[in-house]
Amino acid sequence: MAILNTATLMGAATKVCCQCGINVAGRLRTKDSFGNYYCASCFLAKHDQELREFLAAQMPEPELWRKVPLEAYAVYT
Ligand SMILES: [Zn+2]
Repeated sequence: MAILNTATLMGAATKVCCQCGINVAGRLRTKDSFGNYYCASCFLAKHDQELREFLAAQMPEPELWRKVPLEAYAVYT
């Protein structure tokens, strides 16, 4: 299976958001399991729901955590 993404096309040293294309080097960013980088705003837009569900599944009180603003517990690498 061939996986082409922005990172492989532009070289590993270049970190750009795979959604909007901005350079995320030195900025808040995250990387998914495919090696794609996301800037903070695109990450939130794409992963808001699944991240909430993921975190909620680990919390003793899921309904409580669903009400917490995502920015309060989002972690960027
Ligand atoms: Zn972006």
